[in-house]
Amino acid sequence: MTAISLGMPDVPIKLAERRKSRQIQVGSVAVGGDAPVSVQSMTTTRTSDIGATLQQIAELTASGCQIVRVACPTQDDADALSTIARKSQIPVIADIHFQPKYVFAAIDAGCAAVRVNPGNIKQFDDKVREIAKAASDARVPIRIGVNAGSLDRRLLEKYGKATPEALAESALWEASLFEEHGFRDIKISVKHNDPVVMVAAYRLLAQKCDYPLHLGVTEAGPAFQGTIKSAVAFGALLSEGIGDTIRVSLSAPPAEEVKVGIQILESLNLRQRRLEIVSCPSCGRAQVDVYKLADQVSAGLEGMEVPLRVAVMGCVVNGPGEAREADLGVASGNGKGQIFVKGEVIKTVPESKIVETLIEEAMKLAEQMEDAGVTSGEPQVSVS
Ligand code: SF4
Repeated sequence: MTAISLGMPDVPIKLAERRKSRQIQVGSVAVGGDAPVSVQSMTTTRTSDIGATLQQIAELTASGCQIVRVACPTQDDADALSTIARKSQIPVIADIHFQPKYVFAAIDAGCAAVRVNPGNIKQFDDKVREIAKAASDARVPIRIGVNAGSLDRRLLEKYGKATPEALAESALWEASLFEEHGFRDIKISVKHNDPVVMVAAYRLLAQKCDYPLHLGVTEAGPAFQGTIKSAVAFGALLSEGIGDTIRVSLSAPPAEEVKVGIQILESLNLRQRRLEIVSCPSCGRAQVDVYKLADQVSAGLEGMEVPLRVAVMGCVVNGPGEAREADLGVASGNGKGQIFVKGEVIKTVPESKIVETLIEEAMKLAEQMEDAGVTSGEPQVSVS
């Protein structure tokens, strides 16, 4: 019998202390302050199609989305908001452009928050007093969502284009209008499709205000490009402690945005990692098909919620070292695989049995971790 720790590894290293922001409440989800960085997405259905929208929200919820935004371009969409807000399992934010009247409709409908774009709501500034009062009475926060593609004309003229300074100034100007009416239940985004401009804009904002920040690279592109742009930009900011909620924008199904967002947070130790496959890139020394092995193990363990680290290594150079460091691993060579559990070799199996053995051992470990309530403490269990 070998004593095996199934507790969490060391306290995860974080790259920076979080910027101290005010905390707001978006329905049941706290944003800012010491609240964990949340992941949000946006539906792609017509909001007026209540059934399809609620179906997509359910899929997003299942994928780990914590806050969802819905577009509200027409009266029919505004009319659908109350049912959607009531039936959604996660807080619903109404996304309003152009028409201030829908801001009031969204507040009345019970939405958890409203996003406004100061650059394209005509006469928006004249309505701030009324909006601040309605939002304050209903305890509904407002996101001031500045977008490079729809920047206020005044700032475009002043700066010539959507520079970081122009984006930050637009947001802070709008926030100041709300502040005049004592309303500070605000979060801010300043999105640009260029991660470099976007990062600079958020850094400016972070220096100049204490509002919680919603990070986003807008129009980031198809899944591959958008994932990289978002990971780079969010990584830069979050590693400096900047950012309270994130939305990855992809030209792809919204659940994909959520997966990417969660993975970014897990990679930065801002969220408890779940299943993590540590696999080598393979090279001329590989003695097994590492890609196939990693794919098969990933597929076999899909959906596992416990923070299990599984190493799949192609040869004996780094294999035993990585496999030992992981909760579970294999170091392959000479048509065989040495199976490690918590640093100990528990058996050696022929290559054809590596995948099934890893999956079997992973399931056992996962069960023991769940039984032991692994997210806290370091319980000891024994395996033979
Ligand atoms: S573990 Fe072995 S096969 Fe994999 S990359 Fe390293 S040296 Fe190459």
